[in-house]
Amino acid sequence: MLDFVRIYVLLLIAHLVGIFGLASFSNGQAEQSETSSVVDTKSTPTFKRIRTHLDSIRAIDTHDHLEFDKVPGLYTLWRESYFGTFIPQLAPKTEHVPVATWWPKVQRSFANGRTMSFYRYQLPAFKDLYGVDFNKLTLEQAEELDRAIIAKYRDPNWIRHVVTERANIQMLVIDYDYTPFDYVCPYEFGCAVVRLNPLFRGFHREEYDNDAESPYSYAERMGLPLKSFDDYCNVLDHILERAASRGAVGLKSTMAYHRTLRYDQVTRDHAAEAFGKQRNELTPAQIKAFEDFIFWRLCELSAKHDLPFQVHTGVAMERSNPLHLENVIAANPQTTFILFHGGFPWIGETGMIAMRFQKNVWIDSNWLPTVSYTVAKRAYHEWLDVVPSNRIMWGTDTLHAEGLYGAAVFTRQCLAEVLAERIDRGEVSEEDAKRIGRQILRENALEAFPRLRRRIDN
Ligand SMILES: [Zn+2]
Repeated sequence: MLDFVRIYVLLLIAHLVGIFGLASFSNGQAEQSETSSVVDTKSTPTFKRIRTHLDSIRAIDTHDHLEFDKVPGLYTLWRESYFGTFIPQLAPKTEHVPVATWWPKVQRSFANGRTMSFYRYQLPAFKDLYGVDFNKLTLEQAEELDRAIIAKYRDPNWIRHVVTERANIQMLVIDYDYTPFDYVCPYEFGCAVVRLNPLFRGFHREEYDNDAESPYSYAERMGLPLKSFDDYCNVLDHILERAASRGAVGLKSTMAYHRTLRYDQVTRDHAAEAFGKQRNELTPAQIKAFEDFIFWRLCELSAKHDLPFQVHTGVAMERSNPLHLENVIAANPQTTFILFHGGFPWIGETGMIAMRFQKNVWIDSNWLPTVSYTVAKRAYHEWLDVVPSNRIMWGTDTLHAEGLYGAAVFTRQCLAEVLAERIDRGEVSEEDAKRIGRQILRENALEAFPRLRRRIDN
């Protein structure tokens, strides 16, 4: 009986929808486009409430590369964004070229990039920090914006203002690309990770042009012997121990840009074959064996020194698929692995790994909304299906304050859409959604990084 009533009601609703659908069609073109418009989650009252809540959270940003000493103008701001990296035809401009000469040449790139997340994530910075709609900028406004950006960077307080007050970020985990063993952060809102990449090629001292990233120079400075493979392994331990004592909160590897994420378990003797030899004396298999051993060694040291291991996954070719890490994660249950960028485009695979290794794997969505807002939204939905809400983090992964601001706004918006949709579908209460938002934007980072938590607590 109840079923019958339900079917009758559904038929009645279908009939009414049909009538109104036809009525609006007969009312003409304007009316039709209004009724056929896509429902935008961002226009719902639920989204607005959740967004307000997420904006109020003092966030912990688990990954950025801010190089604050650079003074950007408008061109630099785009060049040092991912738009500049992935649009190789972006017209260049030197300091001496006036904006008026550059601006017409770059219009085609901007027009072609209009829908790209790499373009769109910077728009909130122009709108909120400089009060302009970049999509509609005239040449005169572009010249004015260029001057405004340069002026902002003369203010020593600008970066702190944008990060802590505008983006509402309490602490950034910063990856200094160029000074991998120097952990002194000039900003009270920043802490460092140890950049591991240079350590994977320590089989010979000639591998290093730059003293700052040479473990051989480090060993000399510290008075440590470095003549054997055993010595080398001890130097790695020393680097991490010293880093931890000087305030580093984690480790970071981006080796997936250069090689496969499949790190086989090799014997110490096998790895040691490469030590003391130049690259041209080694086979690719010997180099891989050395790198593989070092990765496993670093996993042990990560656990030993309480420094979670941030691993770049995805956003390179098939070799960067996070599934390649399965063996090493399974064999190192004491190591906290943080899978970067949600493994884009392998977001499902990343969710699968975090689902299987719930004790020691975390997903870090940093950069993902900036790479693809659409995929990020799908990813948050998928991950919230398969992993507990305390396993997902976020970060901006940008080079300057404006990019950081844009990425933070983009992420909060994306997450607010996901949570609002789940509330409106009746899948989660508003109270729970707010708590989950706070976990992703703040609490989970404090749980994953014990040294960061201690720093915030003190
Ligand atoms: Zn990065």
